[in-house]
Amino acid sequence: MAKRIAILGGGTAGTTLANRLARQLSHEIRKGEAEVLLISNTDRHIYQPGYLFVAFNEKPLDHFIRPQKSLVHRLVTMVYDDVEKIDVEKKELLSKRNRYAYDYLVIATGSYPDFDAVPGMKEITYNFYTPEGAEKLRDRLATFEGGKIMIVIDVPHKCPAAPLEVTLMLDDYFRRRNMRDKVELLYTYPIGRIHSLQPVADWALPEFEKRNIQYETYFNMESIDPEKKTVNTMDGAEHPFDLLISIPAHKGAPVVLNSGLGDESGFIPTDRYTLKMVGHDDVYVIGDATNLPISKAGSTAHYESETLTHNLISRIRGLPETKLYDGRVACFLENSLGDASFIIFDYNHPPKPADTSELIHWFKAMYNELYWLTARGLM
Ligand SMILES: Cc1cc2nc3c(=O)[nH]c(=O)nc-3n(C[C@H](O)[C@H](O)[C@H](O)COP(=O)(O)OP(=O)(O)OC[C@H]3O[C@@H](n4cnc5c(N)ncnc54)[C@H](O)[C@@H]3O)c2cc1C
Repeated sequence: MAKRIAILGGGTAGTTLANRLARQLSHEIRKGEAEVLLISNTDRHIYQPGYLFVAFNEKPLDHFIRPQKSLVHRLVTMVYDDVEKIDVEKKELLSKRNRYAYDYLVIATGSYPDFDAVPGMKEITYNFYTPEGAEKLRDRLATFEGGKIMIVIDVPHKCPAAPLEVTLMLDDYFRRRNMRDKVELLYTYPIGRIHSLQPVADWALPEFEKRNIQYETYFNMESIDPEKKTVNTMDGAEHPFDLLISIPAHKGAPVVLNSGLGDESGFIPTDRYTLKMVGHDDVYVIGDATNLPISKAGSTAHYESETLTHNLISRIRGLPETKLYDGRVACFLENSLGDASFIIFDYNHPPKPADTSELIHWFKAMYNELYWLTARGLM
């Protein structure tokens, strides 16, 4: 009987891992000794970092979307279904129509901005964290004639750099359109600096000061008044805006919350080295779904998939699991529409942003095209 590795979620983490496993277990899969089952509730695969470039009308949304089936190795058993419950005791996944038993489970269900977290937010806010949001923001920016743009952020959220990047890109976008003097930019952050990683905050702060980007720290939203167009903070202050871009705190997938597996936000307690769900030897967690205090980023998922590929193959082959995830994350930091920096760090080495350059921006632009090789497990 084939040992089944079920991967729940066909985003960056799940698809990359499934493809890597299928390629390296091809012998066992062909002999009927192993199966890689990938379950996704959507047949579209979206490269989410593309949303930033959609918002600034650099590329259309379609450019960043491919059919899931075009990315999946032929030895992966691909199923499109919406799983409603994960039962780690019975070792099965349940949807309305089906039941999927597994030997090993990898939960790769991602994270999602919670626009209900702050009263009033859903009604008035713009965002670049959803495909529709990125297109709507693009159209609003194109017709914006001037005024105050606020960028409000709560944590945790995926791609910790993206709100800083969008702010620096907004500055450049309006400069290029000869209207920067008509636009006030106010960036806010909930803790005492402008980014959770001190070196990244230190990198961005001089840019903010040089480019007249205002910022407020310890900014904690309580509600948003869509009529008055104000953000109301916990200290009782009212902050008026003309255009509000919000990045609310994220939650885990509904299936995680419904299955009672995660913390109150739906993030799953995960061992930082083995990536196993705490207390469960046969359940692994990868990508944004973990509760690890590291960046929720595609690159995190990519490096985590290296660890899990190795260890899951070992389990199928009856070998010991020896690979540990070292916390590695790599991230481009867009400084404008034409230059960027780059960081790479892990549990033991803090990030040191590289000198900002056009070249790094072009590497990012190149990676935007090469991402599909990552998803295919080839890079
Ligand atoms: C604006 C923006 C910019 C970003 N920029 C960067 C960047 O520059 N660099 C970087 O590394 N990362 C970046 N990221 C973050 C990156 O996109 C995510 O961290 C990454 O996609 C996480 O991968 P994942 O597989 O964990 O989650 P996802 O890619 O979100 O995939 C989760 C999948 O699970 C599926 N799923 C959920 N529930 C179920 C269910 N019940 N049944 C079946 N399927 C289910 C979903 O449909 C989805 O396909 C950015 C993100 C955004 C929004």
